Order: sequence, then C-alpha cells, then structure tokens
Amino acid sequence: MAIDKDNLKATLATAVAYLLALAISIVFIKQFFTNHKRKKKSSCYLNTEVSKPQYAFKRILAENSYSQFKHLKLQTLEELSNLHPYKEEISKLLKNPNVGFLEFLDEYYNVKDGLEMGDSYVWIENEAQLRELVEVLSKESVFGVDTEQHSFRSFLGFTALIQISTLREDYLLDTINLHDMIGLLRPVFANPEICKVFHGADNDVLWLQRDFHIYVVNLFDTAKACDVLSKPQRSLAYLLETYCDVSTNKLLQKEDWRRRPLPAEMIQYARIDAHYLLYISRCLYLELKLQKNENSSPGDKFHFLLEASRRSNATCMQLFAKDLEASPGENAASSIISRCLNDQGNISPSLCDSKFQERVRRLCLWRDIMARLHDESLRFVLSENAIIALGTKVPTTEIDICSIISTADVDVESMTLVSHQSPSPVVSCHLEDLLCLFQDSITNRDHIFELFIQQHLGPAGTCPLSAYNYALLSKIKLRITNRPTSHRNGFRASKQSTKRASRESFVRKFSCKSPVYHNCKIYANDGRLLCYSDRRKLEWYLNRNLAKLVEEDPPSIMLLFEPKGRPEDEDNEFYIQSKKNICVGCGEGNHYLRYRVIPSCYRIHFPEHLKSHRSHDIVLLCVDCHEIAHAAAEKYKKQIAAEFGIPLFISNVVDFDMAHNKTTSSLPVSTSEEIGVSPLHLRTAAMALLRHGPQMPSQRREELMQVVMKYYGGREISDVDLERALLVGMSPHERKKFEKKRGYSFKHLPGCIDLNDENENNIGFKGETVDALSTIMSGTDEKLNYEDNLMVEDKEESTEPPCSNSGDDIAALNADDNDMSDTKIAPGISKELTVHAGDIQPNHDTKFSLLGHGPHGKQVVEYLLKEYGEDGVREFCQRWRQVLVEALHPRFLPAGWDVMHSGKRDFGEFSVYNPSKKASDVAAS
Ligand code: AMP
Ligand code: ZN
Ligand code: MN
Repeated sequence: MAIDKDNLKATLATAVAYLLALAISIVFIKQFFTNHKRKKKSSCYLNTEVSKPQYAFKRILAENSYSQFKHLKLQTLEELSNLHPYKEEISKLLKNPNVGFLEFLDEYYNVKDGLEMGDSYVWIENEAQLRELVEVLSKESVFGVDTEQHSFRSFLGFTALIQISTLREDYLLDTINLHDMIGLLRPVFANPEICKVFHGADNDVLWLQRDFHIYVVNLFDTAKACDVLSKPQRSLAYLLETYCDVSTNKLLQKEDWRRRPLPAEMIQYARIDAHYLLYISRCLYLELKLQKNENSSPGDKFHFLLEASRRSNATCMQLFAKDLEASPGENAASSIISRCLNDQGNISPSLCDSKFQERVRRLCLWRDIMARLHDESLRFVLSENAIIALGTKVPTTEIDICSIISTADVDVESMTLVSHQSPSPVVSCHLEDLLCLFQDSITNRDHIFELFIQQHLGPAGTCPLSAYNYALLSKIKLRITNRPTSHRNGFRASKQSTKRASRESFVRKFSCKSPVYHNCKIYANDGRLLCYSDRRKLEWYLNRNLAKLVEEDPPSIMLLFEPKGRPEDEDNEFYIQSKKNICVGCGEGNHYLRYRVIPSCYRIHFPEHLKSHRSHDIVLLCVDCHEIAHAAAEKYKKQIAAEFGIPLFISNVVDFDMAHNKTTSSLPVSTSEEIGVSPLHLRTAAMALLRHGPQMPSQRREELMQVVMKYYGGREISDVDLERALLVGMSPHERKKFEKKRGYSFKHLPGCIDLNDENENNIGFKGETVDALSTIMSGTDEKLNYEDNLMVEDKEESTEPPCSNSGDDIAALNADDNDMSDTKIAPGISKELTVHAGDIQPNHDTKFSLLGHGPHGKQVVEYLLKEYGEDGVREFCQRWRQVLVEALHPRFLPAGWDVMHSGKRDFGEFSVYNPSKKASDVAAS
C-alpha cells in the first residue's frame, strides 16, 4: 500500500513536471518567434545586457584563456618559474611558528569581553578609505579575515567582498569597486609579524592570489586548529555556536554577493564570518595549550599549538592554478558520460553509444569556449542535464534546442526551472553554433574550436572582446588581415560594416590636428594595462588591425598580439603606481604623457638586457613638467656632448665640389664647425629662399643667402644651387623621389606661397606633419619620405610605432621602442610608416634632434661600453635620473623609484670621472 502510494506520487510528480515543461516550451517557442528577428540583429546578449561588474575591472590577473596563471614576481632576477613569491617567509614560519599573537589575544580577552558584535562596521569602498585601512592594519598584530565570492556569472569567479575584523572594528571591503586597488593590502597580508586568522582558508588563500596577487604569510586557521584538536565538527557554524552562542544562516553563503547595496541580512552574515574569529582562536588556543599536558613530549611546550600553526601556514604555500585540461571540456564530458553509463543520467545506458558520447564532448567543448569568452560559469551556459538531453534527443532545429534545454532544466522536485534563465542567453544568442555541433560534416573537434573562436572573437567576431577573453585568441593562429573575411551570413556582413563604420568615425575623431594629449589606454591581449598613450598611437594600431577598440571615451585599445614584455614582469609597484595616472612632478591628473628618463637616442643603442629597466625609467609627466624635464634633458645632452667630446649634431656640411673646384662628388661632407653650415640650417635657408625669396625683406634674404653661400664655399649662388641645397643629406633614392614630387613645383611655380608656411623656420614641417598623419591614414608613404630624410642615421627609431613625440623622451608603447615593431606585426605592414618627431610641439629643438642625435647617441653608448662596460651604461642611466630629479624635484614619484635603481652600486662609484673605483667594487663582490 505504502509502495503504491509512493509510486503514485512519483508518477504524478513526473506528469506535472512534463506538463510544466510543455507549458514552458510553448511559452518559449512563442517568445522565440517574436524575438527571433531582434535577437539575430543584436547578436550577442553581452552587447545589450546591463554590464557585468567585472567588466569594469582593469587589473585582471586571471583571465579566461587556456594559459596558466602568472604569479607575482618579486624579483626580476628570479627565473621564469612560477614560484611562490613568499616561499622563504612561509618556510621560516613553518620552522619557527610565530604564535605570540595568541598570548596577546588571551591577555586581551582576560580583561575584555569580546563577544558582542555592535551595530557599527566600516564599509570600505574608495581608495582613500582603503589606504587608511592599510595604515590601521599595519599596526595590528592580528586580525580576522573572510571573503565572499561570486561564481555564477563569471568563469573563474571573483572576490566580491572581503571582511576584516580587528579587535576594535569590523571592515567590509567592497572588492568590486576596489578591485584594482585591493593589492594595496599585499604588504599587510605578506607581513609575517601580523597574524591573519581565517576559518578554512584553503580557498580564500587561492582566491586572494587569483584576484589580487595577495599572498597570506602567517596564517592561523581555526579549522586547522579544530583538526588538531579532533573536534567533532570543524565548521565555523559549529564554533560560533559552541564558543560564541551565535547562530548563522549558512544559506547566505550562496547569495549573490555582487549585490549593492548589500541587504542588511547579508552584511550581518558577512560580519559574523570574520568578527568572532579572534575570540574563537583564543578559545582554541587555550584548548591547544591544555593538550600539551597530556600528549606532547617534554620540552615540546606548545606541541599542539605549533602543529595548528604549522598546518595553517602550510596552506599558505599553496598556489592558485587554473585547471587546464588536455582538451577543453574533456573533464566535464568524461564525468557526464560516466554518469550516464552508471545509469545516473536519467537515460538508459544503452543510449550512451559512441555517437552520444561524441555529441556530449562537442557540447562540453562548446560550453567551455562560450563560458570563457562570455565570462560565465559553465553551469550558467548549459546545465549537465541539458547536455545529456541534447545528446540523446539530437535536435534538428533551433527551436528544438531551446525546448529540449528548458525541459531538461525543469526541476522535478520543486517544479521550477533550475536556473533563472533556461536556455541561458549564451545559448539563445548562439543557436547556430549548437545546431552546427549536431552536423556530421565537422569531423574534428579542433576545427570546432578554431571555428567558434574565430567566429566570435576573430576580427569580425560576434561577441564583445574583453579583458577576459582576449587571450583566447592566442590559442588559435592569429591571422590579422586588413581585408575582412567574407561571410555567407548576411547578418554577419552587415554587422561588420557597422563595425567598420564605427571605427572610421573613431579614426575621424582622432584626426584632430591640434596637439592634444590623450588619456588613452593600451591593454595587453589579456587585459592588463600596458600604458597610457595618445590617440595617434591607438590609431596606428587600429589601422593595422593590430588592436581592437575596447573603450570609447577615453578611447582605449587592446592589442591583438602578445607584447614582448609586461610592466609587471619587472616591478609590480611601479606598474600599480603608474596606473595612478598622475604627473610624477606635480601630481596633475588631467593630462600627462609618458616621459623617457633616458633619452632614446642613447637607449636604443644599449645592449638588450640593459634596456630592461624601462618601467622604472618611464614616468608620467604633465605637459608643463614635461617641458621642463625635456629642456633639462636637452641641456644635459649638450653637457654630455662636451664631456665626451662627441658633438650632438652632425657637423656642418660644405659642398666640396665648389670649395675645392672638383667636378663630381655631390655628397655633403662633414667638416669642422668653422666652415660649412649645418644641414638643417642649409635646407631651411634654401627652402625659404626658394619659396619666399622675392617677398622677403632684403636684409633677411641676404642673411639666408649667406647661409647657403657658406655651403658653396662662399661663391655666388643661383636658383639651381638653392634647389641642390635642399637635397643635401638625402640618399640618392630619397632624392629622386623628392625631385619627382617637389622639384616640379619649385621649378614651375617659383613665386607660389604655401600658406602653411608663414615662418620660414618651419619650412615644410608644419604642413608636412599634418599631412603625414593623413598619409598614415590613407596608407601611402609618399610624404613621409621628406621627413625621413631628416632622420640621419636614426634608423632604429624609425621602425617603432609612432612615438608621437616631440623629442626622444616621450615613451613609445610600453616604453620599449622595439617591443611592438618586431613582434607580430602582420606582414605587409610597412615599417616606414612612421610619423616622426616634431609634430606635437613646434619646438625648434625637435628638428635638431632629428638631424643629429643618431650618431651622437650611438657614439656615446659605444664609448661607455668600451671604456667602462655595462656599469658605465648603468651609471649613465643614473645620471639621467638625477637630471630629472634636479629639474623637477618630483613629489609624486612611485614608491621605490630610485635614481640608483638596479645599481647595487652607489652613484658615482662607476662614474666616468672615477673609473678607478671599478676595481674596488669587483674586489668587494
Ligand atoms: P564562506 O566563507 O563560508 O562564507 O564562503 C565563502 C564563499 O565561498 C561564498 O561567498 C561562496 O561563494 C563560496 N561557497 C562556499 N561554500 C559554498 C557552497 N556550498 N555553495 C556555493 N558556494 C559556496
Ligand atoms: Zn556571444
Ligand atoms: Mn564568509
């Protein structure tokens, strides 16, 4: 009888479930048809959905690619291995546990009752509050910690809240708002003098690494103490009830911790999780101390206590790592298949044939890719039940897919949909994919992988690129083409043209002719901020399909290729600080540019490994401070020139044909200062005379004539001589090109006045550089040649991306000139397409630097290396840092910035003035 009743109940439940499923299916199908058109047009749901909070994160350490997590590197010198950065400190604690804080807590609670939890707590949501908290915590000897995670709408999950309790206060840290700054707590957590009390820290320790590169050193885990004490239970709820008479609703643990403001109930729960930890650890301490009397060996005074501490700190040695499978989705597929074979999947094991297994594998692969690229959890994308149902029922239409999934997601027990949305928006927006999975035409799962990543994230992808999914592209062979690939799909083609249009408008916006510095950001392909930049550089990358626009205002791009070096590979602190985006001189935050402390005319000639201090030797400066620093640097260059006897500029030129009455050689020859004239001066004068000669006041004309005459050895000159003077310094090829373009107009329109050219000292430059920009846009390089001519010798510089700079001190991307240009720039991209100097600040010096610094810089560096070796170069760098410091007296230099950086040696020790000291250092080391 009882059995019958149960059977009836079960049958009824099943019937109701199916009815419900049917109803849901009908509703869904209706909805599907109404939405079909709209959905197709709007493509991925992420384009329309209210943004997920993690998309505001800038510093993303763990993205969703298949490459392993990179841990904090404290020392540049440390090998490439992913070691625990605080291995040493933790090892020390394992050998000599530091449990003094427990005695301190014991004394504290002997006089004070620590049980009650008042109404007051501190909500930490901005940087100032966080910094204040860091101050407070660094003075504590112990505090309690807990974290809350969000994992449903995120692939790897993220920390949504950190609770910290001291003896005086409960702090709740909004780690969503403060995500990029929580790293400020790193020193406190790594400080072995400060004990951190957690309950069950195994996960928290890894989560803190994953999100913030925070590593816990000196942990007391109350759960570990329970283990040592062989407590009947080790849950926090048990400890709270036993020692504090507090009950807690652990169901709240699964709440959505992204909610803001957090409801009072959740705040209460969160506080409780950290507040009582200090009191509980004191209670456990007393018990651990008691244990020694019965069990510990004599002399081993705190045996149990030390064991609890040792086990806690062993937890800290763990390192976060992404689960990387041999083949994406493989683990989930295997588990689903074995579940079905064991008759647990509500399908008959007989249905579990090889075709079914293949379908499950494909679905799991697809789910894995889609979860990563939309930054969603696997279960949000597609439930296991849905995968089994799709695998058995084999849908043939998109509607089929939807109804199979929503039916599978009906929970028989509660008669409700398991998930809030079934099918998930990921499924609804990418139904074509799923249908494609059930076609036999695709045989190789690797193809599926490439196909989907290309379709969704490739140059014409349907889904938004983000910091989370960018690095996925590196998994497939990245083909960057300027020509968009054609799609059969009309929808995709139109999508693409909108994309192109928006990019064109972006480029148009960029083409402002005024010298504006922009707060544009350049992210690496894994979302890490590489540097700030101006718009032109962004544009340069965008035009070559080397980057994608990820933010509009201020515009920011993400590189499509892996840059050679990362700022944080070297020194994390600088990296964090430079993100502060203020001038290191005066603190100005509205505009700034990256300034090269060591002028690149020298730096480009450094041996590769000595270029590695680039994140240190690039600082942000506002325009005003930049000008000051730049002027000081230019002045110091002159000093260097005098000191080393290596002139800054190419020496004067003279026409030897004329001077010595020879007939052939036409190349200018360097001579001493007294005779001849500088090539720039010569060209400027000749150009002015050719263009404006007749209109000029006669005195000025005479002056300029004298300049040109100096070149020709003092003889009278003709218009032909003037034109020839213009060609000085060009290679024959450049000359031919120039003659073809320019010569014509000079010959035939001698009186023509270029309105761009009111000032003869700016001949050619002003108009030229504006044109140069449009030249880059249109992809022709004609006009640039004229400018290139001016770059005597500085060939290396001309291969870098546009370092829209006024001298050679504004940093190119990521501070390393060659990083980008020699990595993965697609073939066919002309490396000559480089806007060069002189176009932002109409500063006369810039022209000089174009002409002369190449040989100077090279010779200086060669001299240093020859005379003093690499130490000479290091010392040389220190001198330039000193120049900056003396020019600006900067008040906002990043912590740790140091004139002596990289030098374990004192300033001056290897000074070129004092070379004898070199020997003493070798002896000392
Ligand atoms: P707790 O410290 O116990 O509040 O847990 C911290 C975080 O771990 C929570 O915010 C959850 O995200 C996650 N978590 C722990 N246990 C579970 C569980 N059984 N189910 C879901 N999430 C959990
Ligand atoms: Zn999508
Ligand atoms: Mn908690």
